[in-house]
Amino acid sequence: MTRKYNFSAGPAMLPQEVLEQAQNEMEDWHGSGMSVMEMSHRGKEYMSIAAEAEADLREIMSIPEDYKVLFLQGGASSQFTAIPLNLLDGKESADYINTGAWSKKAIAEAKRYCSVNVASSSEDSNFSSIHPFESWDRNPDAAYLHYTPNETIGGLEFPWVPETGDTPLIADMSSTILSRPLDVSKFGMIYAGAQKNIGPAGLTLVIIREDLIGKAMDITPAMMNYEIQSKGDSMYNTPPTYAWYLSGLVFKWLKKKGGLEGIGEINKRKADKLYAEIDSSDFYKNPVQKEFRSWMNVPFTLANSELDSVFLEQAAERGLVTLKGHRSVGGMRASIYNAMPEAGVDALVEMMQDFEKQYG
Ligand code: PMP
Repeated sequence: MTRKYNFSAGPAMLPQEVLEQAQNEMEDWHGSGMSVMEMSHRGKEYMSIAAEAEADLREIMSIPEDYKVLFLQGGASSQFTAIPLNLLDGKESADYINTGAWSKKAIAEAKRYCSVNVASSSEDSNFSSIHPFESWDRNPDAAYLHYTPNETIGGLEFPWVPETGDTPLIADMSSTILSRPLDVSKFGMIYAGAQKNIGPAGLTLVIIREDLIGKAMDITPAMMNYEIQSKGDSMYNTPPTYAWYLSGLVFKWLKKKGGLEGIGEINKRKADKLYAEIDSSDFYKNPVQKEFRSWMNVPFTLANSELDSVFLEQAAERGLVTLKGHRSVGGMRASIYNAMPEAGVDALVEMMQDFEKQYG
């Protein structure tokens, strides 16, 4: 069996060691005589799996004691709804930062529940840079400020964390969580769909400061209510048990990689190599200003877009797959999350060099 280097934006690659361990434990988890998929979520075995995953995540991210970790369903997209429902706390307005496609989706959903103040938008640079925090037009009465630290489609990433003081900072970290060290205490809430850097699709992680819990509007569906989910230890209903277990294996793998410091160094090196290749000639282009370039999602175009399909074919012949750019951007996009081995990036760079020699 040959595994491909899969550059998908999500669901994305999982570490091979994790897949192998899951395979070994598939039919009989630790002598229990059953697969994790078959266990009651309230049984002793599963409760230990769930608790260990949370403990490992808390350790890796140094999550302070006064934060709850919720293992939910519905994807990051459900959080676009849950956030205003839970966090408006009687206020009428919230601040949002628009840095691209995913910010826009969060904004559109929030508009159903409150007046949205777009405090800063990167639209004027066609989403190639981020305005300095000092220039943001914040509403002092905003219930919270929401932003997207990494835009998965545009490949635009914040190299700094906004310092919003008493206004809770809410971050959609779907495509950047666990990619580098982070000070969780700066955030009111962090959330992420699992299918990029955490585990399989079906699990959504919410890390929320306790004082923000318990303010949901009456109309909030129970499944989206942070207080209900928190009181029930994310088991108000049947949680996505297998995705939670597999994410726990990924957390253990991350610990072996040296935690966020260790993986952050590898990720920086991977991204640097790829951007260096893109910048080395006019044949490839990435439009994002250097300091805001994503470490995880690297979109690039070819000088001649008629070569796109040939590029994709040649890449696929070398086992480099899912490189086609998002339909709204065109060109290519290489998503190089934690589980993409450095050798995968090296193979892509080599392929790009050979392709340029042929067609440049
Ligand atoms: N936010 C960002 C930044 C994303 O990249 C994605 C998925 N690509 C989403 C939200 C939506 O996530 P989900 O599919 O889990 O709802």
